[in-house]
Amino acid sequence: MVYNIAIDGPAGAGKSTIAKRVAKELSFIYVDTGAMYRAMALYLLRQHADIADPSEIAAVCQNADISIEYHDGEQIVLLNGENVNAFLRTEEVGNMASVSSPNPRVREKLLNLQRDLAARQSVVMDGRDIGTTILPHADVKIYLTASSATRARRRLRELEEKGIPCSLQEIQRDIEERDMRDMNREISPLRQAEDAVLIDSSQMGIEEVVKAILQVYHAKVVE
Ligand code: C5P
Repeated sequence: MVYNIAIDGPAGAGKSTIAKRVAKELSFIYVDTGAMYRAMALYLLRQHADIADPSEIAAVCQNADISIEYHDGEQIVLLNGENVNAFLRTEEVGNMASVSSPNPRVREKLLNLQRDLAARQSVVMDGRDIGTTILPHADVKIYLTASSATRARRRLRELEEKGIPCSLQEIQRDIEERDMRDMNREISPLRQAEDAVLIDSSQMGIEEVVKAILQVYHAKVVE
């Protein structure tokens, strides 16, 4: 039996940390769809594609072949055969991903890859449109959010730990701009699926959120 858990939500809500932990608890595969959009963005940046020109983005993205492998449970994103994991987590790539992901050709290229992964094995998949578009029949859907101030503070801490100096105001502005783009695009905007359980983690710790999701899973699936 294959089970699918979809976790959607805005940038910095802690989706990947939480999804990874839930996947580990259940021995499911964790699928980070944001990393696929980031790999596409990296390709567009490397090709100096003009982001203001949707037809150029559509044409350039056709030459990017993105695939996924798992090494010791860690997701490896291959861009035309190259492991690009080390290049995906920068603000530049994240912002480019948010600007290029509304392009229908970009989304089309990644949709089947995501659906195939979920059809073959039990997954916890996180992103923006997993519960609404990619896996509308997922067994469990979670919409994980937190206030933009909380998300900005968490992101600041993460960057500081990596030794990257940043201003809280700048991070919060970036997060709010990204939310605006992700929520207001025409195709697959970020929104809570009707049958998704809303979790606001502003006042919650990681373990508390993981426990809440496992409870939803056990209540729905192991009845
Ligand atoms: O989650 P992460 O910050 O890695 O995602 C980067 C960007 O990729 C998001 O801002 C969003 O525009 C896009 N994305 C998407 N659909 C997904 C996952 C990510 O549009 N399922």
